[in-house]
Amino acid sequence: MRMKLGRPDITRYADRFDLAPATGGLGVTFLGVATLLLDDGDTAILTDGFFSRPSLARVALGRIAPDHARIAHGLQRAGIERLDAVVPLHSHYDHVLDSPAVAERTGAVVVGDGSAANVARGQGLPADRILVVKDGGAASFGAFELTWVRSEHCPPDRYPGAISAPVVPPTRAGAYRCGEAWSLLVVRRDGQRVLVQGSAGFRRGALVGQRAEIAYLGIGQLGLQPEAYLRTYWEETVTTVGARRVVLIHWDDFFRPLVRGLRALPFAGDDLDVTMRVLVGLADRDGVTLHLPTLWRREDPWA
Ligand SMILES: [Zn+2]
Repeated sequence: MRMKLGRPDITRYADRFDLAPATGGLGVTFLGVATLLLDDGDTAILTDGFFSRPSLARVALGRIAPDHARIAHGLQRAGIERLDAVVPLHSHYDHVLDSPAVAERTGAVVVGDGSAANVARGQGLPADRILVVKDGGAASFGAFELTWVRSEHCPPDRYPGAISAPVVPPTRAGAYRCGEAWSLLVVRRDGQRVLVQGSAGFRRGALVGQRAEIAYLGIGQLGLQPEAYLRTYWEETVTTVGARRVVLIHWDDFFRPLVRGLRALPFAGDDLDVTMRVLVGLADRDGVTLHLPTLWRREDPWA
């Protein structure tokens, strides 16, 4: 097979960056990869909280650690001062690396599985700021109720397995093993419901009985899978929860800092054009709208 060079041109999909800015109430702000801020003015939840985005060379050959200047910049630019919870969606470094540092700076608890807890311990986050959840577990923060449903990572999982001891940075990227890959359901007391799927994986039937109008779907590596996989991913997430609107995340090249703006992952690691072709077809078939989120913008996907 001939290797495709370069990367998809994200400007081909410019018309999909069309979510309305939030005017109050509940807002969702995309901060790269699977980092999403959900806030209603009283309570704020952040998935992942990944801002360091170390270079490919460092990830492949060196050791990585939270970049405190990038974390501070990301939080400040997103207007984040206080958070109630930081929720790593799995424990690969591009999700969990900065979760403890973000929690430390914002007064939040880190909520995740035993692997995420070991990342938090390794960075010195106190035990009373770490909450361990299991499949089907729930926790409330203000008007938000969060439910964690066990899912799967999109193949290939480059660092599979669980993290069984505290991870002390700087260390190899491979130390950040996947742990549980979660589907996170967020329900607000006034009835708004959103599914956040951090990785493009699924466990058949896992989301049966869950409802959400909005689905934020991780699509990293999805474009390298056979088309049947994309169709099943859609069925097991969007169709199962009855979402009417889908917002795609985890499509950006996370080897470069947010200050340089977002571009798609290179063809060597994914193929956004394949993902868009298949998912646009499924969305059109089902009468679901498909969107891309705008970096830094507080958006209202219910509007
Ligand atoms: Zn991952």
